[in-house]
Amino acid sequence: MRVVDPAGAERALAAGRLRCPPCGGRLRPWGSARIRDIRVAGARPVSVRPRRGRCVACGMTHVLVPVWMLARRADAAPVVWWALAAHARGLGYRRIAQRLRRPQTTVRGWLRAFRSSAPALLSAFGLGAVRPAGGRVPAAVAVVRAVERAARSVPAWRVSVLVSGSLLVRNTNQPHVSGSSQLAP
Ligand SMILES: [Zn+2]
Repeated sequence: MRVVDPAGAERALAAGRLRCPPCGGRLRPWGSARIRDIRVAGARPVSVRPRRGRCVACGMTHVLVPVWMLARRADAAPVVWWALAAHARGLGYRRIAQRLRRPQTTVRGWLRAFRSSAPALLSAFGLGAVRPAGGRVPAAVAVVRAVERAARSVPAWRVSVLVSGSLLVRNTNQPHVSGSSQLAP
């Protein structure tokens, strides 16, 4: 479960106000997922230990993942989004890697994964059918533009995470995981 406000989600969980996404049952606190160190822009990594809840009705556990964390990525969503948007504007991966102080292979991995998931993201925006007629704009660039158009009152990276179900840059080396238990150990 993606949570915009972890502290608020924690209070809601303790008070029994969070609902199980698949079945609507009440969630009870159920320990925490493993600690993860997430790299944020220009600073030391942030240690995050996402809270876990368990549904009293169906027994499924859900990890309350802060919205700025991407599934199976060690870099925070705003960092990855910055790279994707910069690339859409023509900045090469070497310069992006330099600016973000990340390995070039990491940045290339993000860009490659984004290119492969871009057509599906375009469909999520209802723009899948526009592309063939639209011509030469790569899907990845079209996604960046669509996200930025949609992001009027919230940061663009947050829109991108929500639309992609946190798989903005899908890691194709990993088996697909469901949104509910993606950070469970
Ligand atoms: Zn349930």
